[in-house]
Amino acid sequence: MNIELNIRQIRTTIPNGVQMVCVSKYHTKEDITKAYKYGERVFAESRAQELLIKAQTLPKDIEWHFIGHLQSNKVKSVCQWVSMIQSVDSIKLINTINSYADHVIDVLLEVHIANEESKSGFEERQLIDFLATDDWKQLNKIRIRGLMGMATNTNDVNLIRQEFRKLKVLFEQVKKDYFSNNLYFDTLSMGMSDDYQIAIAEGATMVRIGSKIFGNHQ
Ligand SMILES: *Cc1c(COP(=O)(O)O)cnc(C)c1O
Repeated sequence: MNIELNIRQIRTTIPNGVQMVCVSKYHTKEDITKAYKYGERVFAESRAQELLIKAQTLPKDIEWHFIGHLQSNKVKSVCQWVSMIQSVDSIKLINTINSYADHVIDVLLEVHIANEESKSGFEERQLIDFLATDDWKQLNKIRIRGLMGMATNTNDVNLIRQEFRKLKVLFEQVKKDYFSNNLYFDTLSMGMSDDYQIAIAEGATMVRIGSKIFGNHQ
């Protein structure tokens, strides 16, 4: 794997205004350091323990995002190291983050858009109901920056496109109905190594790319 070459090639396909997050889960500190030296500063991990080990030893100007399922008992330690949690998939988790965070944490609300049970996230209805309560406005450690979603793992490009399109529509609706006076609600995180170009075409402002940069893990 030539990480520098991979990054260079991927970067030519990502327009200005779309942020690339390097998904470094399962990959070594040496590999992350290569991407760092090549100029990347935003990395994402999906397991708490792995994040803590890497964040404590790698350069402090790395901005870490968390993208995996986050258990309540890991929230406090994860919050110390991340600037954003992209995988907020329940009201309980939002409240837990708010009570443990020592600084304001940017969060994305994860929406279940795939037709796979295994993927997590709010159902659309549940998300709207939560935002309509206004309870979240009292959470002073939480800044809701936008939505995140993962498409179905399939070769059916049309299905993937439809799922991203649906998420974009929801994003615009939520933005209009609940965040119209809020400049921070600006992030639509969708697209991974195999589908990020479709996601960008459908309106992603952030893509999360792992294997296309670092190769497949063992
Ligand atoms: C692993 C992961 C990615 C990156 O997947 P690749 O296919 O390796 O690019 C993106 N988002 C989430 C939530 C992930 O868990």
